[in-house]
Amino acid sequence: MLRLPSFTYLQPRTLDEALRMKTDAGPDGMYVAGGTDLYPNMKRRHQEPRTVISLMGIPELKATEGRNDGKGMTAVGPGLTLTQLSVLPSFRRSYSALAHAAELVSTPLLRNMGTLGGNLCLDTRCNYYNQNYEWRKAIDFCMKKDGAICWVAPSSPRCWAVSSSDVAPVMVALGAEFLLIGPQGERVVPAGRFYHNDGINYLTKQPDEILAEVRLPSPNGWDAVYHKLRRRGSFDFPVLGVAAWVKWERGTGNAERGTVADARVVLGGVASYPQEVPDAAAALNGTALEDAAIKAAAEAAYRPSKPLDNTDFDLSWRKQMTRVWVTRALQELRGRQAAAPRKRP
Ligand SMILES: Cc1cc2nc3c(=O)[nH]c(=O)nc-3n(C[C@H](O)[C@H](O)[C@H](O)COP(=O)(O)OP(=O)(O)OC[C@H]3O[C@@H](n4cnc5c(N)ncnc54)[C@H](O)[C@@H]3O)c2cc1C
Ligand code: SF4
Repeated sequence: MLRLPSFTYLQPRTLDEALRMKTDAGPDGMYVAGGTDLYPNMKRRHQEPRTVISLMGIPELKATEGRNDGKGMTAVGPGLTLTQLSVLPSFRRSYSALAHAAELVSTPLLRNMGTLGGNLCLDTRCNYYNQNYEWRKAIDFCMKKDGAICWVAPSSPRCWAVSSSDVAPVMVALGAEFLLIGPQGERVVPAGRFYHNDGINYLTKQPDEILAEVRLPSPNGWDAVYHKLRRRGSFDFPVLGVAAWVKWERGTGNAERGTVADARVVLGGVASYPQEVPDAAAALNGTALEDAAIKAAAEAAYRPSKPLDNTDFDLSWRKQMTRVWVTRALQELRGRQAAAPRKRP
């Protein structure tokens, strides 16, 4: 059985208190929310904080019914559990892609503990890294922790561990924004700029910054979906995720359906960050998601999708599946638009 190392556990009640505790702990301190990622990592000695600062007792991180910030964004607390995200009627109604991505994470027990913030800050994953200490020691470790080489791409100067969050690609596709609070003050970053394509430094967030608020664009003529590929439908991390978002320009006539005014297609599980594919979006603009447009977008997403041999399944098959999964996601969006109530002439 893997055991947790000894550590000091702190329970601040306010953001200021949490920031002070982190400053006092220095690089040996880490925040924890649900702990479903951090504690297994500590057991495998991936992360070795001496002080763990829980964010779960800070009320403002748990705001459920989003308040509107006056700029058309709805703010929600990163301390919400994935279960809350997936069952709250307001999310199911207005942010169904988000609720769906949350309910596809792992198992009910982990969703009851795991939070939105923890999911967005999830450590990157790799077959050579997500192993216990002895296993990693037997291969002389790797550059993500304790070693010098990358076993996936031995001549590479960087780590290629994979972004495996289900919710992160949806946030990038929706154009969400994150409020970060640190000792130096506050800043807001677009979800797309919260991530680096680097398996070690995968977040632009500083270690002492707290993700304090997630801001979602108000539902206003757009729609989004999320599709996930994994081995076991009830448990596993994504080996490919596709989040697709479109802003519809509604047709005026009774028979006329809307056309795509703007779009975003984001891939998860194929790089160290949620990878937006602008060429796929460009193939959709001005179309009504006809078959030809979907095919062009799927082809555009296939090209930059470069999974490596460090998660489940054969990598060339995972790349092939990018076309299939993007096609299915866009067909679902088209179907939802066709089923939406029409405007009266
Ligand atoms: C068996 C298993 C299966 C899983 N399957 C999936 C899956 O299919 N899809 C998926 O996406 N995830 C999966 N996970 C990962 C994890 O359970 C979820 O991503 C969960 O949402 C993590 O949230 P948490 O609150 O438990 O994170 P924690 O473990 O508490 O934290 C994770 C990281 O985020 C940081 N952090 C947390 N909150 C904040 C904040 N507000 N501000 C700053 N930093 C913060 C922590 O310091 C830590 O570095 C799985 C985990 C396990 C053990
Ligand atoms: S991609 Fe390479 S450096 Fe990164 S975790 Fe895997 S083996 Fe280690």
